[in-house]
Amino acid sequence: GATIGILGGGQLGRMLSVAASRLGFKCHIFEPGAEPPAGQVAHKVTTASYDDHAALRAFAESVDVVTYEFENVPTAALDLIESIRPIHPNRKALATSQDRIVEKSFLNGIGLATAPWAEVTDRASLDAAIAKVGTPSILKTTRLGYDGKGQMRLKSPADADGAFAAMAGATCVLEGFVDFSCEISVIAARGLDGSVSCFDPGENVHRDGILHTTTVPASVPGSVAADAVLIAGRILNALDYVGVLGVELFVTPKGLLVNEIAPRVHNSGHWTQAGCTVDQFEQHIRAVAGWPLGDGKRYADVEMLNLIGDDVAQIPALAREPRTQIHLYGKADVKPGRKMGHVNRVL
Ligand code: ATP
Ligand code: MG
Ligand code: MG
Repeated sequence: GATIGILGGGQLGRMLSVAASRLGFKCHIFEPGAEPPAGQVAHKVTTASYDDHAALRAFAESVDVVTYEFENVPTAALDLIESIRPIHPNRKALATSQDRIVEKSFLNGIGLATAPWAEVTDRASLDAAIAKVGTPSILKTTRLGYDGKGQMRLKSPADADGAFAAMAGATCVLEGFVDFSCEISVIAARGLDGSVSCFDPGENVHRDGILHTTTVPASVPGSVAADAVLIAGRILNALDYVGVLGVELFVTPKGLLVNEIAPRVHNSGHWTQAGCTVDQFEQHIRAVAGWPLGDGKRYADVEMLNLIGDDVAQIPALAREPRTQIHLYGKADVKPGRKMGHVNRVL
């Protein structure tokens, strides 16, 4: 059977490996960190830094196609892999999502609305950005932020000095604070043949900057759900995308704004494991392997609940619940803010 190479060995890589294995593929994980969650289920793991080009080369040569569960893959590593094997999703998708300014420029450039934003490179440009987008607003590092890290809220221009200092010189984007009625996301897939299939939009609730629950169906009118799916399709086509993409959106009285995109399977798509015949992980493997996309139609209402840090203490009780599917990532150390697992409750 063919072997799929996955950059990144976290829980997403683990669940991708399980899905790939069900389809008869082997997975080879490349991950700098020791004892990655995906390593417990994959066929092979390479533990090496992205600077170790000999290890990267051997990894690429051992697989048929490369994908990733993590969007901050260094450019030089991609150059090397791409010279050896195909990478899906492509470079453009990765580069677009690695930098919030590139991402927002791309989205606006294909006619999609975002929060008002301005680039911040120094203290004077923060004042100019505040003049443009106003307050309240959020200052975010353009690169490497996740789970709400690298963000500072500005209630008024008086918060500018503190927020600027907290960013320690990193290039940032100032975003106008969106007074959204809710947050939704679309998990969208595009195959090698250009066919597109989107899962139903889910409604997301965050706690302390980290996704807490995703519920399907989202409590939005059908027209809004349809609009969200069309937005996701436009992004997929504009990027000539192959694989699964997560699109986070704000629902506002004036319509949908795109918050950010993730070129990979997405935490807010875990509900598909209990709600669809083909879940996001199988869909991604199908796409990158050149298979036809599977049937992602939703057949159940589902609530996905993330188990963060000490939430794992709820597992004995959750294990007694009917209609509840438990997913644990095999992480030994419980740490605050660490994603330990999730449950899907069929409603
Ligand atoms: P992720 O873990 O999803 O990658 P992230 O660190 O990239 O998160 P964002 O998605 O940009 O961060 O922001 C995290 C959350 O903060 C959003 O889901 C939303 O709840 C809130 N938020 C972010 N930007 C804005 C905004 N401009 N207006 C209002 N709320 C916002
Ligand atoms: Mg993000
Ligand atoms: Mg986000």
